Amino acid sequence: MGNIYVVVAEARDGRLRQVSLEAVHAAALASHEDDKLIAVLLGHHLQEAANELARYVEDQVIIIDHPDLAIYQAEAFFSAITSVLDQLQPYGVFFGHTSIGRDLAPLVAAHLSAGQISDVIALTRTDDTVSYTRPLYAGKAFENKQFISSPQIVTIRPNNISPAQPVPAAAPITQLTYSPSASLRTVIKEVVRKSTGRVDLTEAKVVVSGGRGVKSKAGFQPLEELAEVLQGAIGASRGACDAGYCDYSLQIGQTGKVVTPEIYIACGISGAIQHLAGMSQSRIIIAINKDPEAPIFNVADYGIIGDLFEVVPLLTEEFRKVLSVSN
Ligand SMILES: Cc1cc2nc3c(=O)[nH]c(=O)nc-3n(C[C@H](O)[C@H](O)[C@H](O)COP(=O)(O)OP(=O)(O)OC[C@H]3O[C@@H](n4cnc5c(N)ncnc54)[C@H](O)[C@@H]3O)c2cc1C
Repeated sequence: MGNIYVVVAEARDGRLRQVSLEAVHAAALASHEDDKLIAVLLGHHLQEAANELARYVEDQVIIIDHPDLAIYQAEAFFSAITSVLDQLQPYGVFFGHTSIGRDLAPLVAAHLSAGQISDVIALTRTDDTVSYTRPLYAGKAFENKQFISSPQIVTIRPNNISPAQPVPAAAPITQLTYSPSASLRTVIKEVVRKSTGRVDLTEAKVVVSGGRGVKSKAGFQPLEELAEVLQGAIGASRGACDAGYCDYSLQIGQTGKVVTPEIYIACGISGAIQHLAGMSQSRIIIAINKDPEAPIFNVADYGIIGDLFEVVPLLTEEFRKVLSVSN
C-alpha cells in the first residue's frame, strides 16, 4: 500500500477552479503508481464542481458541503480540512497558490508539523526524489527544492503546470459532514467583489493590462474591448491604480497580483521592475508604448511602438475578424 496524496481543490461560484486541476496533475506527478490520490473540495453547493473534479481524479473525491463554508474563513476551512487530513494521514497535500491556498496551507503545515514549498511552477521526479522549482526575487532567479521529511505541503502557482487529463473512470464522491464550531472567533457576513471581470485575473489565459498611458478611467475602454474579444482579463500597473484610473484589485506586480498568462498585452506601461515582478513569466509578452526606449520592450516578445489609442482598436478589429473566421 502506497502513500496518500491529497489535493485541496477550490470552487468559486459553484465552478471548479482551473488551478485545482493543475494541483491534481502536480500531485499525480509527485506520487508513485501505488499511491492514492484524493481530492477534497470544501464549500457550499458543490455537486457540479465535485462531479467535474471526479472526472480528473483517480481514487476519491471528498466533499464537505455546508453553508458556513460558502465563503472562505480560515478557522472554518482549517477545522473542516484538518478533520479530513487527521484521518487520512497524507504524505503530500497540494493546494493552488491562490489567496485561499496561501492562507490555508501554512495553517495545515503547522498543524501537521510539515514542511512547505510554496508557489511551485514546475516539478520533476527522478526515481524517489521530487524536485520543486519556484521563483525567487520577484522572478529574477529560481530555486529547486526537495523535501527531506513528510508530510509535505505544496502550493502550485496558477497557469504553470498543465491541468490533469480526464481519467478513464470518474472517482467516487464521498460527502462528509461538517460540524460548525461554536468557538469561531470571526464570522464573514458578506464578500464585496471589487473586480467585476468575467475571467479571474490570476488564471486568465490572456491579460490586457493598462498603465498610466491610458490617461483616464475611460482610457481603459479600448482595452476592455480587446480583452472581451480575446476572452481575457483586465490588469493594470500601479501607475494606473495610483492615478485612480482603475481599482487596486487589478494591480499586477510586486505589491499586486502575479500573473502568468499565455499572452500578456501591456498598454502604456513603462516596465518598472516592480511591475515586471508580476508578469515577466507570461508566455508571450506584447508591449504597446509610444516611447521606443521604454524598459518594457526589454522583456517583450513583440513590441509595437505607437499610440495605444490607435493600436489597441486596430488589434481588436483584427482579432475579431480572425477569431470569427476560425469559429
Ligand atoms: C515598493 C514599491 C512597490 C511597487 N509595486 C508595484 C506593483 O506591484 N506594480 C506596479 O505596476 N508598479 C509598482 N510600483 C511602481 C513602479 O515603480 C512604477 O512606478 C509603476 O509601475 C509605473 O506605472 P506605469 O508603467 O503605468 O507608469 P509610467 O512609468 O508613468 O509609464 C507610462 C508609460 O506609458 C507610455 N505612454 C503614455 N502615453 C501613451 C500612449 N498614448 N500610447 C502608448 N504608450 C503611452 C509612456 O511612454 C510610459 O512608458 C512599486 C513601486 C515601489 C516603490
